[in-house]
Amino acid sequence: MSATFDIAPIESWVDNFQKPLIISGPCSAETEEQLLETCTQLKKIGINIMRAGVWKPRTRPNNFEGIGTDALIWISEVKKQLGVKFSIEVGNPQHVEQALKYGIDILWIGARSTVNPFTVQEIADSLKGVDVPVLVKNPINPDLALWMGAIERINNAGITKLGAIHRGFSSQQESKYRNLPLWRLAIDLKSQIPELPMICDPSHICGNRDMLADVSQKALDLNYDGIMIESHRDPDNAWSDAKQQITPETLKGLLNGLKLRSKESSNESFKIFLEEMREQIDESDRDILEAIGRRMNLVEKIGEFKQDNNVTIFQVDRWNEIYRTRAEWAQGMGLDKEFIEEMYKLIHIASIKQQTELLSKSAAKA
Ligand code: PEP
Ligand code: MN
Repeated sequence: MSATFDIAPIESWVDNFQKPLIISGPCSAETEEQLLETCTQLKKIGINIMRAGVWKPRTRPNNFEGIGTDALIWISEVKKQLGVKFSIEVGNPQHVEQALKYGIDILWIGARSTVNPFTVQEIADSLKGVDVPVLVKNPINPDLALWMGAIERINNAGITKLGAIHRGFSSQQESKYRNLPLWRLAIDLKSQIPELPMICDPSHICGNRDMLADVSQKALDLNYDGIMIESHRDPDNAWSDAKQQITPETLKGLLNGLKLRSKESSNESFKIFLEEMREQIDESDRDILEAIGRRMNLVEKIGEFKQDNNVTIFQVDRWNEIYRTRAEWAQGMGLDKEFIEEMYKLIHIASIKQQTELLSKSAAKA
């Protein structure tokens, strides 16, 4: 079932939008001084949209769980003093109500909420008739439909100032990231909803300070509209996510080091588009090669198995079935049948070659 989306361009929901949009501030609002000082420093380096966690979803209880409503009072004071916009996470309708009461400018739905359609629907219902931008973080598990479904629920409630935040995914895989970035999945989201603004959250992807610049650059190279990045006046002593936060001064250096692309001439935007498409093609090709690698590994395993059980390599029924079903799958996906049949002939040749080599190797050993 295909959904239709009604999304307002990001230019229409942020004053003087400049790409990339930068949203920064502490993981959590901790004290009035910490918030004011961090935001004052951010304002000095040209950041006009702040972030802070007011209610903190923590993995285990008995950790700092956010200040709650008092932090909203501090935020409205900071907004007044500095003339900046503020974004916070909401996790239920009461949070939405409080956030709107204190004049929060942008709301976001956290990764742990996006996974739960009950929660997202409750938040969506509380947003009916409200005109506030909402950013939807990816769910912690790599499920595109769940991410899209959350965006759809918020959009169906009448919110058109809507964007997505890629903050990486939980993974069993050994990884240098705290949350594995799945650029491909985010690109798929963008191709399903082309008008959807995309923001990257390098802080929760990296979980450390060292890789923030690389991940931010990657996001810009993939033409993301903005970056949400955590900053703190004293990162080492932050009450949450200390390892990944940076000072506003460090953020300034990071932002200066990013290669931003201008869209000055139509020629330039053509180049940007071309590069973006090539990035996407590179990503797709890596996916294809990884899938072929996985397939060849399985072929090798099945070859050993056949050998152990004294079974012939080539089994015509199985291959006839492969040609038939793959061609059918391909057609179902809108791909050219002949092309896929040709491709499977090559895959077949390579598979037989691999299994024959295995046999001759073990024959030589015997
Ligand atoms: C956050 O932005 O502070 C946060 C809790 O993020 P996430 O929902 O991505 O874990
Ligand atoms: Mn955080």
